[in-house]
Amino acid sequence: MSVRCPYCDLRGDRATVHQHLVEAHGDRLGFSWHERSGYAIATVTCPLCGANWDQPIRKARRDPGFLEEFAYEIRLVLFDLLLHHLRGEHREGEWGGAR
Ligand SMILES: [Zn+2]
Ligand SMILES: [Zn+2]
Repeated sequence: MSVRCPYCDLRGDRATVHQHLVEAHGDRLGFSWHERSGYAIATVTCPLCGANWDQPIRKARRDPGFLEEFAYEIRLVLFDLLLHHLRGEHREGEWGGAR
């Protein structure tokens, strides 16, 4: 089944688009710090409906180097959630025109 990248016009099978998201759109993830516990939280937001998911990264407590160390792993997990959501909530034909 062919899917389209929600951020650009790239189209391919799920694995291809997943890899593309990780490599090309990592800057779409947001990062924040959990106030009380101090661990990092990565957030991905659906560009179509604004739904978002948080992924706590407990290994990355206020470590400025965590992005390099965990970025790839974090992106894999969060973009997988996004792809799952896009497939379930947004039908393929409705993706056109999304930015
Ligand atoms: Zn893209
Ligand atoms: Zn959505």
